[in-house]
Amino acid sequence: MIYLDHLLRATQGSLRQRSKYTHFRAFSHDTRQVMPNEMFVAVRGERGNGHDYVLDAIRKGAVGLLLEEQVFQHFSEQTKSALASEEVSIVVVEDTRVALQQYASAILEIWHPTVIAVTGSVGKTSTKEAIATVLSRQFTTFRSWQNYNDMLGIPLSLGRLEARHEYAVIELGCDHPGEIAALCRMLRPQIGVLTNISPVQLQYFSSLEHLAFELGTLLTSLPEGGQFFYNQNDPIIQSMLEQHVHQVLRTVTCHPFLPDTMGKAAERRQVTVGWNGIQGTITRPGNGEHGKGEHNGATLQLSSQLLGEHNFATMLAAHQIGLSRGIYPTLVEQALTTLKPQSGRLNPLPGIRQSMLLDDTHNAAPASVKAGLQTLSALAGEQSQRIAILGDMLHLGDFEAEAHRSIGQEITHYVDYLITRGEWATLIAEEAQMAGMDTEHIIMTSTHEDAAQAARRILASLPDADKNAVILIKGSEETRMERVTELLMARPWEASELLVRQTPGWKKTIFRHAERPTWVEIDLNAIGSNTRHIASMVGPQTQVLVALKADAYGHGALKVARTVLQNGASMLGVATVSEALPLREAHINAPILVFGYVPRWQMREALRLGVSVTIYSKEEAQALSQAAQALDKTVKVHVKVDTGMGRLGIRFEELPAIIELVREAGQLSGLELEGLYTHFAQADAEDQSHVRLQLARFQEVLQALEAEGLRPPIVHAANSAATLTIPEARFDMVRPGIAIYGLDPSPYVRLPEGFRAALSFKTQVSQVKWVPAGEGISYGSTYVTERPTRIAVLPVGYADGFRRSPQNWGVSLFMVKKRRSLAVYVWTRA
Ligand SMILES: *Cc1c(COP(=O)(O)O)cnc(C)c1O
Repeated sequence: MIYLDHLLRATQGSLRQRSKYTHFRAFSHDTRQVMPNEMFVAVRGERGNGHDYVLDAIRKGAVGLLLEEQVFQHFSEQTKSALASEEVSIVVVEDTRVALQQYASAILEIWHPTVIAVTGSVGKTSTKEAIATVLSRQFTTFRSWQNYNDMLGIPLSLGRLEARHEYAVIELGCDHPGEIAALCRMLRPQIGVLTNISPVQLQYFSSLEHLAFELGTLLTSLPEGGQFFYNQNDPIIQSMLEQHVHQVLRTVTCHPFLPDTMGKAAERRQVTVGWNGIQGTITRPGNGEHGKGEHNGATLQLSSQLLGEHNFATMLAAHQIGLSRGIYPTLVEQALTTLKPQSGRLNPLPGIRQSMLLDDTHNAAPASVKAGLQTLSALAGEQSQRIAILGDMLHLGDFEAEAHRSIGQEITHYVDYLITRGEWATLIAEEAQMAGMDTEHIIMTSTHEDAAQAARRILASLPDADKNAVILIKGSEETRMERVTELLMARPWEASELLVRQTPGWKKTIFRHAERPTWVEIDLNAIGSNTRHIASMVGPQTQVLVALKADAYGHGALKVARTVLQNGASMLGVATVSEALPLREAHINAPILVFGYVPRWQMREALRLGVSVTIYSKEEAQALSQAAQALDKTVKVHVKVDTGMGRLGIRFEELPAIIELVREAGQLSGLELEGLYTHFAQADAEDQSHVRLQLARFQEVLQALEAEGLRPPIVHAANSAATLTIPEARFDMVRPGIAIYGLDPSPYVRLPEGFRAALSFKTQVSQVKWVPAGEGISYGSTYVTERPTRIAVLPVGYADGFRRSPQNWGVSLFMVKKRRSLAVYVWTRA
């Protein structure tokens, strides 16, 4: 609860508009999440300015506004009068972020709950929740909201603090150096809790030691009489303590998560993990000779509904803190039994086909991925198949490659099937393969949909008895792996309640790491769905080869390759051998046909990569055969016939030569005849006569070969346009390119309903200004304003791939995001 008086006193803000509202339920800084009776705080960020949304916030029920002087002064008359007519209290400050921090500090001082600060590399949120659950048994306890754990999020969440709270349990994030110290200055915790130290968020820290130092500032920030609780089984914490301890020992007491009453003898720990939760027992042999027997309290047994052995440390922390605050042990133990997995944290959910999902999608780092895999394996037991769907782990600094590889090296112990999603995660797959995992059981994908589809296929392939598979789903926050979980849930309509990042704000959030304000977005789901359209159009008898030349028409060959192969394509086409190399290096083992010229010096490379080669002369066939013999390998060849394109290929008129070449291709040692093809010059024209002529010529050649009993296994001719318009041209395989990317082959041959463009070119408006009539715009002044004109300047140049010609784009279309509506402005010049 926020009282206006407190806010004004804490921030030195001025009340610019009075209303009947003098207290507010909570703060909100996102109009997509504002609730009635809240105070909306306008925050300026990289992506937007909250001040643009004040009226929206009021419409959603906000009855207070916290705004910045600078912006408030410059509101338009329209906005000002709209605000004046609303029953809303307006507080104006210099900087809203600073004001929130001042409020947080002040309110903790006014209501003085005991502040418990929880930090660590992983497990902070679970530990915060566990501690708050235990303390709630005896005290009114506030807990920071979800994972609002930084200089903005914590003060926002403290808007819900109330006078009655005796404890405030607050999670502290640690994304960059100095953050913990700054948070501690604001919150002045009396109790600190450190869960563990492992490599996460390392892009901001030069090393693990540096991170340990940062997390250690929680200890050194504690006041006289403070208490510090730590995980005694974490070696990095141990060494950190040794460095700090002499500075603070006199004033702060340090407690390991394991209670002192357990004595100092070596402990025996047994933790069992089942679907109902974990149960842990710690035994320390008592000193029998003193005859104290069981009364020396050397056995501790705790259970909770949390999954995952690592959560035992979470329980121990909460247990120890509960006892230290004087809560009766059985109450603490009872409280722990009520702890349930939170969304996205090893949360068991029923999956399709009687599978069980372990949704662990809130975030991922090496330690938590390993913990997830161990839990997967422990829960699946002997009977069930274990499937892991892993996305990238991000923010690991220089550890990124090493971290993924180390997971791959161990994964064979924990899973039967591995599905990866994303490019870093392919390193896990690569290592798993080297560690001896069956390659059939490793599937690399680029999209959520393909990852889910791969899991569906595995489930469908399992014999009935095995159908209770267990599927772990995990990845860093930004990889949004909860979308995979949603696709595999038995009751997907429950996703919005059960999964992470389901708020309207999150649903719209797309992470982007652009280096400039102009970028291209590729929708791989569109590529997947376009491929499925083509595949269903041509039917199961006809294969689909996707033309991936020129870096998949600029869409990124690697990701496109993985996507089309998951969605019905069985072969890939490239222009040169060098284009096939990165695909093979990324373990794409599907057949690849090189359409273009393979010089002799590159034939061995073609053989090494195992690609199919196009041939059109006897000399070439012989050279290829020699190369194959030298390497003791076989190369598949496709004979290309020129039926009217006038480019590469043996001319259709030379029928005897064609027959001889095809025969040789089948006989020369080291060669294997795989295909026969031609390419159309005008399949996308309005007039079909040329493509029909080429088709007739090709059919003639084919008949002649069939008469000789020389029909190769794969006969193909159709590019996108012919695939769409001439069913007779489909033969054994089609070769779409442009249609896969979702573009019409030409104005005459358009894609049917259902295809989607995969590429969008986006930019941000950099300046909007008025230019008088008669002024030239841009190079050459080829456009001259006819009247005073409002000009929007886009930060786009050649280097962004934007052509200068035509000089005047008849229509330029751009989108301006304003308020909640996405307005499309069409700018016409005519
Ligand atoms: C590029 C190419 C295709 C694909 O053509 P689209 O018109 O983009 O469908 C098919 N076959 C060959 C030989 C190609 O070079």
